[in-house]
Amino acid sequence: MEKLVRKQIQTLTPYMSARRIGGSGDVWLNANESPFNNEYKTDFARLNRYSECQPNELISAYAAYAGVRPEQTITTRGADEGIELLIRAFCEPREDAILYCPPTYGMYSISAETMGVEQKVVPLTSDWQLDLTKIEANLDKVKLIFICSPNNPTGNLVKREDIVALLEMTKERAIVVMDEAYIDFCPEASTVDLLSQYANLAILRTLSKAFALAGLRCGFTLANQDLIKILLKVIAPYPVPVPVSEIATQALSEAGLARTKFQVLDLNANRAYLQVGLSMISGLEVFEGWGNYLLVKFPDGTALFKAAWDTGVILRNSPIENCVRISVGNRDECEKTLGFIRNYYS
Ligand code: PMP
Repeated sequence: MEKLVRKQIQTLTPYMSARRIGGSGDVWLNANESPFNNEYKTDFARLNRYSECQPNELISAYAAYAGVRPEQTITTRGADEGIELLIRAFCEPREDAILYCPPTYGMYSISAETMGVEQKVVPLTSDWQLDLTKIEANLDKVKLIFICSPNNPTGNLVKREDIVALLEMTKERAIVVMDEAYIDFCPEASTVDLLSQYANLAILRTLSKAFALAGLRCGFTLANQDLIKILLKVIAPYPVPVPVSEIATQALSEAGLARTKFQVLDLNANRAYLQVGLSMISGLEVFEGWGNYLLVKFPDGTALFKAAWDTGVILRNSPIENCVRISVGNRDECEKTLGFIRNYYS
């Protein structure tokens, strides 16, 4: 079998999602999921028929929520499929490249690799901002630049003036993809208003985080109509399952949006609780976080991660030395996690 497989795939290490890593316990703060398990109703009718390629109601509802026009919106199987569509549509295998700035989300690299697209890697600066000079020096062959803000796993926002500078720098050369998977926790930081000025901007969104629908697999890409039309060329014919469309539309209804807003406030308060509690433990460094997670530096991150794992508190280790990412759960989960860490260091 192995010799039939494309060379690039033979050597590919798949993305180690929190779910693939596994674990067992009763506090799950490793996947940046929402602790809220909201109820939905669908009648499972019309399943004998294919779904609309881009369900009108869903597209209109998300566009209204995001403050764009329906023609500027495409829905995909999670933001992850948005990443894949962009690379598939814009990057010629073995000719073009993507550029990304680690430490950041791992799927830009893995999606490029599966498609045989070269990767240019320009690390973030020591304060986790864009290194614009190095990016400019590495633009040769680059079609897509992935920028994540709030960034996963660091939690910080990328400076707006740097994003604007990058959009200017890459005008008519490359597309800047802003990954806003966590933007609903800090909507004022969105770059969606820049769509009116920049044809080379694409924005990734998801219902997996603030909307508490990680299991639904529903995401969106926002961009100007010309770019959306291109993505519509490469998407599968019936990409949105009927029940997904129905549930997502309910989540985006007036009542659904109000509930999400309330839950975001709740989670942001829990994040503040964790931030303050962890900051009081000496030897820890808690980085400011804008999403539903915090990155924390421990004296020995691996040891802390393992000790938590063994007691059923499942966190996410990170490639940043001694840093562990902690998702913001409900108050009980945050208290248990904080209590565990406090005890561990006392
Ligand atoms: N971007 C970032 C930064 C993420 O953290 C995630 C989720 N892990 C995604 C995109 C993908 O989200 P989705 O569940 O919508 O595929």
